[in-house]
Amino acid sequence: MLKFRKMKITKIETFILKDKLSQSFYFSQWKYSERCICLVKITNSDGQYGWGEGYGPAEMLESGIRLLKPLVVGENPLENELIWNKMYRKTLDFARKGVLVGSISAIDIAIMDLKGKILKLPVSTLIGGSHRKTVQPYATGMYFHDLKNPSKNYQKEAEKYLSMGFKAIKMKVGLGIKKDFQNIKLVREIIGEDIKLMIDSNHAYSFNEALSLANKIENLDISWFEEPLSPEYYEQYAELRLKTNVPIAGGECEYLRYGFLQLLKNKSVDILQPDICSCGGITEAKRITTLASSFGIPIVPHTWGSGIGIHVALQFIANLESIPGRLIEENQLMEYDQTENRIRDYLTIPKIEMKNGLIEIPMRPGFGIDVDERFLYDFTASENLEIKRIIT
Ligand SMILES: [Mg+2]
Repeated sequence: MLKFRKMKITKIETFILKDKLSQSFYFSQWKYSERCICLVKITNSDGQYGWGEGYGPAEMLESGIRLLKPLVVGENPLENELIWNKMYRKTLDFARKGVLVGSISAIDIAIMDLKGKILKLPVSTLIGGSHRKTVQPYATGMYFHDLKNPSKNYQKEAEKYLSMGFKAIKMKVGLGIKKDFQNIKLVREIIGEDIKLMIDSNHAYSFNEALSLANKIENLDISWFEEPLSPEYYEQYAELRLKTNVPIAGGECEYLRYGFLQLLKNKSVDILQPDICSCGGITEAKRITTLASSFGIPIVPHTWGSGIGIHVALQFIANLESIPGRLIEENQLMEYDQTENRIRDYLTIPKIEMKNGLIEIPMRPGFGIDVDERFLYDFTASENLEIKRIIT
């Protein structure tokens, strides 16, 4: 139809959202004291718009979007692959990994939201259809609030997740093998045997340390050990996998199909974890799923950020092929960060609801959400929240 052929992207706006946390927390690498998220809004010639989010340092993501903006304005938002390729060709000489791919991701996600709204279809339908109606979120939490006594709040925090209906919990490790082992044992005792438990060291360990921890926890029914090693060491990951029966997960620091191919070819992981807001967006994540299915490796995406990022994951997971398929399949897992984040809790409408431990996948156009723009602008007066409009 002529109407569709004539459509053009007319405006790209970025927003940096900041919120100071009421209480700082740590993971194995550094301290978190604030949330800082870069969003992008892309508007079409007919006035419709889509929202995207990048994962990474917000100011740098914003700069990348500014660089890419002239390539995207004037393009037809229905042609997401053509736009993706233009952005990639412009940047591949100097940025095949890293934050600039996050900028491409944010733009691609906003374009997919816009495309879904134009065609009045959910993103899951745009990428091939929805295999499921619900996902099973797992609680990402159990960070370190007190480095001297990291397990102080475990009982209270784990009980909170269980009372919310979570059937799976991921805890942070990376404080040293002895301490980690004690903490993992304690959490397993608190939550019992029926709740899935995953651990994440955020690449805190050397090969020997990671192997030592993996050996110690083999009887604690750990669903996966995430980022045991630094993401560059594809072959060490493979060797670790051969020497432990604890499944190894990774991929949140990887980019593009070419990077994920390294993880797959080297047999580095049992579970692949691309972050759609940084690995290249929905368009590239879909290609990564094709690669992963060729190697028989399942995907559970890394998800961190605002409600936009969570809805991106919901639509993506809806379309994920089960590996392997069978008559009675387990629920597909989705990462659902539970640490303090007002941007995640308030930015998008409608609110995310969990019922009986499951989240229903929206079947509304695009990602099925809108941004509460009162939140974007009105909260600027808040002491804790600075929201800055960067590009108009
Ligand atoms: Mg992780």
